[in-house]
Amino acid sequence: ADWIAAHGGIGDRLVVLAGPTAVGKGTVAAYIRHHHPEVRLSVSATTRAPRPGEIEGEHYFFVDDAEFDRMVEAGELLEWATVHNAHRYGTPRRPVEQAIAAGDSVLLEIDIQGARSVRRAMPEATLVFLLPPTWDELVRRLVGRGTETPAEQQRRLETAKVELAAVDEFDHRVVNHDVGEAAEKVVELMRPRRGRPRRP
Ligand code: 5GP
Repeated sequence: ADWIAAHGGIGDRLVVLAGPTAVGKGTVAAYIRHHHPEVRLSVSATTRAPRPGEIEGEHYFFVDDAEFDRMVEAGELLEWATVHNAHRYGTPRRPVEQAIAAGDSVLLEIDIQGARSVRRAMPEATLVFLLPPTWDELVRRLVGRGTETPAEQQRRLETAKVELAAVDEFDHRVVNHDVGEAAEKVVELMRPRRGRPRRP
């Protein structure tokens, strides 16, 4: 709380993009990374293995369980969560605090549990919920990407149903019809604007 007080008005500068599984958060983040290099994207630590094409320090910091434990115990993570009952993911605290202190905006692409933790840690953060155009479209995307087994798909869809109910806890909703349009809306929310509605 002292830290927040010392850096008043972080609302526009700490933006969290969250949403249910397969809604396209990662794709929207990738679009922003490519088209908006001025936006600082937080790089999470994760215990999962890199996928082909993923770069250490750009997409994630890939760490083992022992190192993740160390980061948690040392208080180095702003928030962390076990996602899909599998691997742990967390947001390194220092780069976020440094960006805000420097007057920059920073974007966190994290899951819904993580968004809730950020809200607790930094109540002024702006929370953006990415929605699928329809439920059927979410199912189509999850099945279509073919990276999960049918049983795992079923489990994620159950989770997605629960997660969609969290939308009311968020400050803004962006529907992901088109990746570029959704990404531009998120970037727009990161620009301080006059007359922007504030949360009470
Ligand atoms: P993936 O393994 O597909 O890159 O990411 C899986 C999920 O982990 C996504 O929902 C993503 O938003 C979430 N995630 C990535 N980094 C973080 C983080 O630092 N904290 C939390 N809570 N979730 C994260």
